[in-house]
Amino acid sequence: MSILQVLNLTKIYLPGSKIAVRALDRANIKVEKGEFVAIVGPSGSGKSTLLYLLGGLERQSEGKIIVNNKDLTTLTEDELAEYRRKEIGFVFQKYNLIPILNAKENIVLPLSIGGEKIDDFYFDKIVKLLGIEDRLEHMPNELSGGQQQRVSIARALIGKPSIILADEPTGNLDYKASEDIVNFFKQLSAEFGQTIVMITHDKNLASKADRIIEIIDGKVMNQ
Ligand code: ADP
Ligand code: ADP
Repeated sequence: MSILQVLNLTKIYLPGSKIAVRALDRANIKVEKGEFVAIVGPSGSGKSTLLYLLGGLERQSEGKIIVNNKDLTTLTEDELAEYRRKEIGFVFQKYNLIPILNAKENIVLPLSIGGEKIDDFYFDKIVKLLGIEDRLEHMPNELSGGQQQRVSIARALIGKPSIILADEPTGNLDYKASEDIVNFFKQLSAEFGQTIVMITHDKNLASKADRIIEIIDGKVMNQ
């Protein structure tokens, strides 16, 4: 059964100027639980818009988004905020780590903000898998780019989200560090059934995913 389904999803931006931008045009996508999907396409084709809609950061203009049998398009703002917190882990090109917190404090921040308990067993498991277990006391500026991104991935995973949404997560990394991140996503999906949707402009990295979805001019080319 699909964990995520997008039906005729359309997003029209109405900026200050008169010209409306149809950033996403009747997109239809299905993603199965545990799948690792890469989204590719030219700059400005609607990839980030799709990810923001899936993550409940933006509202659609038309169409439906069903995640875990829930229709996001019918949720209130509060319900959408809860959905973002509980079910989605975001990873961005910029790591967005808090500079005055060490790696461990950054990773557990989503839980400590809400006063939620940390599952120590799970924490140890993800930092070991990511190979950052001996960097936990380091401040972000003492870590390489690849290490900072791994900290941000651990932070995205700490709440046990059903889906990881990653927007150009390797955009600031060299090829070796990028490959490490993508191989990690592959392992997460293959061994732990984590569902991952990743935007990349790198065809080589995209080819490591289970499936590639191409978006051009707001249209999904292979649906
Ligand atoms: P991609 O991620 O593929 O580069 P985006 O989803 O960022 O593409 O953008 C798709 C289109 O929507 C572009 O034409 C972009 O200029 C436009 N767009 C994105 N965000 C906004 C916004 N907040 N307001 C107006 N237009 C936007
Ligand atoms: P990567 O291949 O992941 O980009 P780097 O070559 O940037 O790695 O870093 C190599 C090593 O140097 C890493 O183990 C990292 O922790 C350490 N390092 C990088 N930048 C700093 C820094 N500003 N302060 C302390 N250690 C650093």
